[in-house]
Amino acid sequence: MSTELLRGEPVAEPILGRVAERVRTLREEGTTPTLATVLMSDDPADERFVELKHETCDDVGIATRDVRLEPGAPAERLYREVERLSDDPVVDAVFVQVPLPDGVSLTGVRRRLEPTKDVDCLHLENVGRLVAGEPRFVPATTAAVCRLLSAYDVPVAGADVVVVGRSGVIGTPLANRLLWDRSVGNATVTVCHSRTTDLAAHTRRADIVVTAAGTPGVVDGSMLSSGAVVVDVSATRKPEGVVGDVAFESAAERASAITPVPGGVGPVTLAALVENVVRTATRRDGDREG
Ligand code: NAP
Repeated sequence: MSTELLRGEPVAEPILGRVAERVRTLREEGTTPTLATVLMSDDPADERFVELKHETCDDVGIATRDVRLEPGAPAERLYREVERLSDDPVVDAVFVQVPLPDGVSLTGVRRRLEPTKDVDCLHLENVGRLVAGEPRFVPATTAAVCRLLSAYDVPVAGADVVVVGRSGVIGTPLANRLLWDRSVGNATVTVCHSRTTDLAAHTRRADIVVTAAGTPGVVDGSMLSSGAVVVDVSATRKPEGVVGDVAFESAAERASAITPVPGGVGPVTLAALVENVVRTATRRDGDREG
C-alpha cells in the first residue's frame, strides 16, 4: 500500500497568503494587527515555539510583542502582564505559552485574559463557547488538524476517530471539534489518556488516530488498522531533533496517510494562529470606524 504524506506546508501556504493580504488592507486602513506572546519558561523547546510564532507574524506583516518572565518569577508578575496586555488597545491578541511553571495557576491567567483577545481559547468563556458549539476562536492546533484532514479529503463524518491526549489545550478541544464541527466533524470520537487501560485496543478500531500525548513512541504500526489515517500533533524536542508520538516507520507501513513530524500539523497551526489574530484585528478596525 502506498502511504500518503500529509505535509502541512501546502495547507498552510494559502492560509498565510490570505492572511498577508488581509493584513495589508488593515494596515492601509490604519490598523496594524498585533500579537503579544507571554513566555514564562527557559525551556529551549518553549522558546522555539514562541520564536516560530513571531517569525510567522513577521512573514505576514503582523506586529508582535514578546514578553518573557523568568520561570521562578512570582505568579503575580505574570498575571499583571496578562492584565496589562489585555487592557492595551494596540494589542489585538494575547497568547500565553503553556505549560506554566509549577505554582503558577492557569486559572489565574484565564481570569485575567480579555476573552476577545484570547486567540488560543484559554478563557473559560471561550472554552464554554467552544463546547457549546459557538466558538469565538478555535484553538490553533485544533483548527490545524481539522484543516489538514479537510485539505487532504480525509472523510471524517461517520469515521471512528481516536484522540490520544485529553489536555485542555489540545486533546479536549480537538475531540470536541471532530465531534461537532460542521465541515470537519460528525466523527465518532474516543478520547484516550494515560489511564486508558488498553490503548492499542482503541487505536486498532480507529479509522483516524490523532496523537497529542507528548510521549514519543506511544503509538506504533502494530496498534493501527490497515489503512488508518494518522495525525501526529506532538512535537517533543530530543537531541536528534523534534519527534512526534508515533513510531513513524512502522506506522507508515500500516497507514494510508500519515503526517510527518516536523512538517505536518506544526506549519498549519502557525497559519491558524495568525488567522485568529487577523480576525481580532478586523474587529478592532470595525470598532474604530464604527
Ligand atoms: P499535555 O498537557 O502534557 O497532555 C498530554 C496528554 O496525553 C494528557 O492527556 C495525558 O494523559 C496523555 N498521555 C500522556 N502519555 C500518554 C500515554 N502513554 N498514553 C496515553 N495518553 C497519554 O500536553 P499538551 O499540551 O496537550 O501537548 C501535547 C503535545 O502537542 C506536546 O508534544 C506539544 O509539544 C505538542 N504541541 C504541538 C503543537 C503543534 O502545532 N503541532 C502545538 C502545541 C503543542 P493524562 O491526562 O492522563 O495525563
